[in-house]
Amino acid sequence: IERQLGKLAGTPAVTLDQHHLPLLVNMGAGGDSLAALALASEGCGLSRTEIPFMLESSFPTEAAQRAVYRAELEAFAPKPVTMRTLDIGGDKALPYFPIHEANPFLGWRGIRVSLDHPELFMAQVRAMIAASEGLGNLQIMLPMVSKVSELDEAIAMIHRAWEELVHEKLDVDLPKIGVMIEVPATVYQIPEIARRVDFVSVGSNDLTQYLLAVDRDNAQVADLYDGFHPAVIRALTAIAAGAKACGVHVSICGEMAGDPLAAPLLLAMGYDSLSMSVTQIKRVKRIITALTFARAHLWLDEVLVMENPEDIRRYLNEQFVGLE
Ligand code: PEP
Ligand code: MG
Repeated sequence: IERQLGKLAGTPAVTLDQHHLPLLVNMGAGGDSLAALALASEGCGLSRTEIPFMLESSFPTEAAQRAVYRAELEAFAPKPVTMRTLDIGGDKALPYFPIHEANPFLGWRGIRVSLDHPELFMAQVRAMIAASEGLGNLQIMLPMVSKVSELDEAIAMIHRAWEELVHEKLDVDLPKIGVMIEVPATVYQIPEIARRVDFVSVGSNDLTQYLLAVDRDNAQVADLYDGFHPAVIRALTAIAAGAKACGVHVSICGEMAGDPLAAPLLLAMGYDSLSMSVTQIKRVKRIITALTFARAHLWLDEVLVMENPEDIRRYLNEQFVGLE
């Protein structure tokens, strides 16, 4: 990673007119050293905690989870680490917890599983909070939320876990709590959500799949799955504007955040940070540092009246050539 980033390692992404856009990393696939990931970024915007669960043959104990989370939090401190609670179901299966459904992407996924198994959820958030002892850089993020009552239930359990640990004499802060905006229903509930949490983060992979009714993993319809579809661009714009109006931090952690073509649009929409695969950080940093905020805004204004993804891509590619 150090070699890949070269002299860009550790430098923030700042536009020509001094607008700072923090670039964070997504974690979970393994391979890269935690120290290198921390060095390459301004923090972790998405730790996919189901990945370590997928490598086991039964549910890891609270103590085992705590050790994994501690290593991540220590490597990044004082930079923030956003840990997403278990997001199984859909495309992510646990060998020891089979789920058989006709429509897994519309089924028992993410927070729905956690709320039906509070013992699993409590063990996980207790492990996360305990792991943050003395560090204070933990943020907890909830996946696949579609209604605020799910949020209220989950937040109450996170508070309970924190109170238990304080009672057990651990030196732990209440973590910042956030929600993934990835079910279309949440796009229309930003004010209600913003009142309850510290941040929202767009899961553009699932949001694109659900907005366009296109399975994100089906090759047959892969050409219809497109983050530059005008409906997706407008949804992303509305989410950022809504979050800003409510004064809640807004980020994006789906694959689009790491697409250099999308980054100027996300900057102009008002996203406070982008979280991406570490392999994309250099490319995105290069484009952000070559732009002014005003120019990015001009591009967004043009794109927002276009009717086809192809037109949007062509236009952005032309602008890129003009930059070089
Ligand atoms: C997303 O849906 O965009 C996301 C970041 O989560 P995942 O890809 O793990 O579903
Ligand atoms: Mg998702």
